[in-house]
Amino acid sequence: MHRSELTVNLGALRRNVRTLLRALNGAELWAVVKADAYGHGAADAAGAALGAGASALCVATVPEALALRREFPAARILVMGPAGNREVAQARDARLELAVSSGEIPAGVRVHLKLDTGMGRWGLSELPVPPVEVVGLMSHLATADTDAAYTEWQIERFRAATAPYSHLTRHIANSAGALRYPTSRFDAARCGIALYGLSPFGTDPSEDGLEPVLGWTSHVAQARLLRAGESTGYGRRYVAERDTWIGIVPVGYADGFRRDLTGTHVRVAGELRQVVGTVSMDAISVELDRELPPGAPVVLIGHGMLAEEHARVAGTITYELVCGINSDPTRTRRVVVDA
Ligand SMILES: *Cc1c(COP(=O)(O)O)cnc(C)c1O
Repeated sequence: MHRSELTVNLGALRRNVRTLLRALNGAELWAVVKADAYGHGAADAAGAALGAGASALCVATVPEALALRREFPAARILVMGPAGNREVAQARDARLELAVSSGEIPAGVRVHLKLDTGMGRWGLSELPVPPVEVVGLMSHLATADTDAAYTEWQIERFRAATAPYSHLTRHIANSAGALRYPTSRFDAARCGIALYGLSPFGTDPSEDGLEPVLGWTSHVAQARLLRAGESTGYGRRYVAERDTWIGIVPVGYADGFRRDLTGTHVRVAGELRQVVGTVSMDAISVELDRELPPGAPVVLIGHGMLAEEHARVAGTITYELVCGINSDPTRTRRVVVDA
């Protein structure tokens, strides 16, 4: 039996694509599949997104794009992060498109000029008159999940700066923008997190019509009775007040079940149970109300267990949680389904 199993539901991903396309009301959806599609598997996610109506793929690096080019010879692929000189040549050969935020605009490759409208990270402070290589103008929202006034201000800056060049493809929206800011849509939206059915707002994704794509399950490897005063795990951070059954589940922080998830809940044999004690590299403990047989199913994510809830406990965002799940086949089994 595998220690844990990751299930990637491409049917859910396709439904999320359609939900986003409806929200975008005519603007194109560009599927952001950087970081191995936020841990979901870049080639699988990209294929499903393109099949359901996404018009392009976006990644952070040239090597990510080159790997996708081998799978998708005809797709538009935009590299959003900076590229070195050697990478520019590779991008040209592989017909990639490059976001350019500074310095010279490379020749012979399709370029999207990136304007900084308030993210304060990559981006030009002023938009030059775009030379012929430029096919798109882009910017990035800093607060679309939190601060409406700042977001509206960024969108307005972008609109004003790019207005003379409306024949170019203009794009600023991320998932949060696509879902909540109609004025951010322009010609295309670059959506990542919402494709995977995770809420950009950290709330229940069903509120935005999104369906989680990832499931993560394991099992109770061993149930054991702690007598009152006995502890489980490093540091004795959990000491049983009375005789207590605990289940040992064979996932830990090396699998991406982070140390700051102590206190979160998982579903054990159908019931919500708390993760107690210190998360180890390869195991966690859950508090039970009775003895369970080895093999009792444990749902870590999916089937109603929201990654947003784990993120809240860990004080982070779902992006970081799902990117951190280790899909190495020596540790976990990864299954792609279409349900
Ligand atoms: C990651 C990224 C996105 C996607 O953001 P989501 O919040 O996941 O939709 C869009 N644009 C840029 C430049 C990004 O780096």
